Amino acid sequence: MNDCIFCQILAGTIPSHKIYEDKDVIAFLDISQTTIGHTLVIPKQHVRDLFDLEEKLAGHTFAVATQLAKKIVPLVGATGVNIVNNNHAVAGQAVFHFHVHIVPRFDAHTDGYHATWANNMATTSAETLANLATQLRR
Ligand code: 5GP
Ligand code: ZN
Repeated sequence: MNDCIFCQILAGTIPSHKIYEDKDVIAFLDISQTTIGHTLVIPKQHVRDLFDLEEKLAGHTFAVATQLAKKIVPLVGATGVNIVNNNHAVAGQAVFHFHVHIVPRFDAHTDGYHATWANNMATTSAETLANLATQLRR
């Protein structure tokens, strides 16, 4: 996957600040530093997104993200953290090699990270929800 930025970071042909490596994953500082300590955790295997990611590797990648978040947050003096994973362009994915963002948080309004969830229950019927849950339990 020569045209993949993250495969090139893994290979060392694009420089990065790597902070963790094991047999299956690496982590490095995100170039945007949305907040100080913003980190990406990626599987070494070139996997485009969550839909192509094998569950055991997903578990390990998120486990490493959890472990690193617990280290990064106190180190940078943050008081919270967002763990973010975007899949497909519609969800904000820009680099198509699966990655988990660790974004340390300092202030809910002014630290540079924003995510909002609208409440759309006014336009979602109880029947729609019940049907969806039934289908998902199958
Ligand atoms: P996405 O929007 O796909 O979830 O996030 C991609 C992330 O990759 C962005 O936060 C962006 O800053 C980061 N990124 C893109 N190119 C590079 C690079 O060359 N080096 C590093 N360290 N991060 C990068
Ligand atoms: Zn790749």
